[in-house]
Amino acid sequence: MKKLLPTSTAGSLPKPVWLAEPEKLWSPWKLQGDELQEAKRDALRLSLQEQQHAGIDIVSDGEQTRQHFVTTFIEHLDGVDFAKRETVRIRNRYDASVPTVVGAVSRQKPVFVEDARFLRSQTEQPIKWALPGPMTMIDTLYDNHYKSREKLAWEFATILNQEARELEAAGVDIIQFDEPAFNVFFDEVNDWGVAALERAIEGLKCETAVHICYGYGIKANTDWKKTLGSEWRQYEETFPKLQASNIDIVSLECHNARVPMDLIELIRGKKVMVGAIDVASHAIETPEEVAATLRRALQFVAADKLYPSTNCGMAPLPREVARGKLSALRAGAEMVRRELDA
Ligand SMILES: [Zn+2]
Repeated sequence: MKKLLPTSTAGSLPKPVWLAEPEKLWSPWKLQGDELQEAKRDALRLSLQEQQHAGIDIVSDGEQTRQHFVTTFIEHLDGVDFAKRETVRIRNRYDASVPTVVGAVSRQKPVFVEDARFLRSQTEQPIKWALPGPMTMIDTLYDNHYKSREKLAWEFATILNQEARELEAAGVDIIQFDEPAFNVFFDEVNDWGVAALERAIEGLKCETAVHICYGYGIKANTDWKKTLGSEWRQYEETFPKLQASNIDIVSLECHNARVPMDLIELIRGKKVMVGAIDVASHAIETPEEVAATLRRALQFVAADKLYPSTNCGMAPLPREVARGKLSALRAGAEMVRRELDA
């Protein structure tokens, strides 16, 4: 990007009420068949328009065609039985009934490539596409086949790489892998998590990003955050390995978080998507608050490598709140851009 401080979101945006029940994760679709397909496209168009209206520089599909950032991808794969469910602990935080891996996992056809082509046809702006990361995928399943988290992650990395290559060919500029699990399983991240991520980006020429956050603003996550103490130093465990990796961009949670900003120093040289919007609160940030977070980040990341963003996805927020936050992000980034230009 030539423009300094290009803005983007971490990923999901609220869906229109005619598509799915609002302010809810895993919200069921309100339509079926062809009607649903057309409605998803319309929602994608709207989501793009809202980002453009707010002045966001790197736009996305707002994840309008997926019910959930992990499960929707897995639903399209072979080897996972969604009718056979087991209760597991997700990221050591909450119990959920999840599908079972019953055989070798594989991707018979593209998952999001048609959607990405459609988004590409709607805008000339740079586009970013989010996929779940291998470690976060395995953490949302019961594995009755490989019986090895590492083996299953490696299989998913291969599948993600197939999808990513086709997204790149469809004109996606930045492919992002969501790895909230990186903030929980530090030993695994360092043993094989980052390696699996690098397998997923193998051979890509477009830019690649990893998004590591403290999750959506849902109760299980806010309760978990309360147990993390006055300083959240989780990033310290994984940043050295990421700094040495081939990933281009690291997307982080910063605003209103107890993450010490100086931890960004550990990924010096990488581009950093700095979360300057809190997704766990309905309060809309002022541009000054956004600017203050960006200025703090500028102490540890070069201006041409700082990408203002949101802490996480905004799917569970009311639409008008999300719109307000997008505008605040743009306005806050604009303030700091003017200071840098002066
Ligand atoms: Zn997130």
